[in-house]
Amino acid sequence: MPSSQQTLSIVCFIDALGWEVLRGRSFMEDRLPVRRKLRSTFGFSSACVPSILSGLTPREHRHWSFFYYSPETSPFRPLKPLGWLPSGLVDRGRVRNQISKAVKKAYGFTGYFQLYNIPFQHIDKFDYCEKKDLFRPGGLNRGENIFDLLERERVPYHVSNWRDSEENNLAALKADIVRGEIRFAFLYMASMDALLHQVGKESPLVDEKLAWYEQELTSLLEVAESHYPEVRLHVCSDHGMATVHTHIDLMSRIEALGLVFDRDYVATYDSTMGRFWLKNESARHAITEALLKEPHGRILSDEELQELGCDFEGDQYGQLIFLTNPGVIIVPSHMGLKPITGMHGYHPDDPDSDASLLSNVEPSTNPGAITDIFHLMRAEAGV
Ligand SMILES: [Zn+2]
Repeated sequence: MPSSQQTLSIVCFIDALGWEVLRGRSFMEDRLPVRRKLRSTFGFSSACVPSILSGLTPREHRHWSFFYYSPETSPFRPLKPLGWLPSGLVDRGRVRNQISKAVKKAYGFTGYFQLYNIPFQHIDKFDYCEKKDLFRPGGLNRGENIFDLLERERVPYHVSNWRDSEENNLAALKADIVRGEIRFAFLYMASMDALLHQVGKESPLVDEKLAWYEQELTSLLEVAESHYPEVRLHVCSDHGMATVHTHIDLMSRIEALGLVFDRDYVATYDSTMGRFWLKNESARHAITEALLKEPHGRILSDEELQELGCDFEGDQYGQLIFLTNPGVIIVPSHMGLKPITGMHGYHPDDPDSDASLLSNVEPSTNPGAITDIFHLMRAEAGV
């Protein structure tokens, strides 16, 4: 059955399909000859994806690292007693996953929710930034995403269920294409990121995964082209992946200062960042001195954070941000315990942070950064 629409625009998001991940590899050159490097947004996917969906900086949409200090609004007080139980019992990955699921259900969170390794004894000091489903209208903490616009303009569109597998997401999109009613589609593919974290960007398993994407996307294009006179495909990503070469134990360095958590300072440790809230001058001084002694990273200045669009109202995500150098991770951190080969969340100036945009048509909007994917999507959907 021919489509009621003349044109179908598909934006396929492949998490962590970095410019440097693609370098030296062959991936859909014939089908997607227009290729651009995009500057990433500083932060993890929890910051980059909202920026892609809205064209806004983290300062504007207020999504950055998942956890931030906010004892007044923390929904996690009921979990604090778990901090009294032996760590071997409550801190195993599987147990934390079960608790995360229960919390998500109890609070009605529709976004991606994971407790990671935030210590239970301090969890009542923190709030979480992704309580809502980013891929729905109204999904952002502030501002509008592409789905707000698509709904308002009544554009018939398809969006993947990000909780589902890549295979199911492809099948669901194909089914909508065959129906011929949609004009715009956002296809979400997440497993490249997990693979790159696990095996690193040099691994032959990455070549295998790319070959699989190529096969699946070629087949998707064939289905689309048999139902629509014009099919426009843009494959994009949020960031790349650096290869990890150094671990630093930032937590011990800070804990050795003899300061009291919550009385003197509050800290949370992401894989590449230490974020601090300082309650008095002596804590500020001691922590700053300790961070200056750490050779594998640096404190980001206020000016730099402002330039990166990561200066938040009320210092929401930390008053002092320490960022590790590319390839350096903080171990242990509040994000994970497992050894890992690849990591992202470094400075956007690092080439391994660069994202990609691969298209079968010249993008009309001259994109240079991942926030421009939003403007490209608007142009493609005509909203
Ligand atoms: Zn990742």
